Amino acid sequence: MTGTDTVNNDELRDLYRELILDHARNPRHFGKLDSATHTAEGINPLCGDKLKLYLQVDKDATIRDARFEGLGCAISVASASLLTDAIQDVDVQRAHSFVEQVTESLSGTKGHGIDTNDDRLAKLKALEGVREFPARIKCATLAWRALGSALDRDETPVSTE
Ligand code: ZN
Repeated sequence: MTGTDTVNNDELRDLYRELILDHARNPRHFGKLDSATHTAEGINPLCGDKLKLYLQVDKDATIRDARFEGLGCAISVASASLLTDAIQDVDVQRAHSFVEQVTESLSGTKGHGIDTNDDRLAKLKALEGVREFPARIKCATLAWRALGSALDRDETPVSTE
């Protein structure tokens, strides 16, 4: 590909759909992390999605590893998989800004959406497809809410309800 201007919207949408399906079928960084320094649980009662997020944060406030466990629909699993991919070796402050951008973009409170100039965020643009399906937005934001809670060291499980 030479640039996004050569790809039309339908093609882009198909690429995003494939990316979501790929992450749902083969979740990255799936499993427990014994060396975790931060954890958070999230539940989405409406859909039945349930996940636990593990972070290993270094003394220099960098996320050295991130993994997740849980059961949920394709969207929630793909979102958690994309999340754990995006925050590897990212500092805590930047991870906080990812949480803000993704949750604001998906819930539609921020018009311009995810910043694709940031290479870590570009793939997350695929999640914006759920905006067309309001019932699934909570599935997509669940892992991100859990990440915010883990970073804040809030032990209360996150619920979308
Ligand atoms: Zn779901």
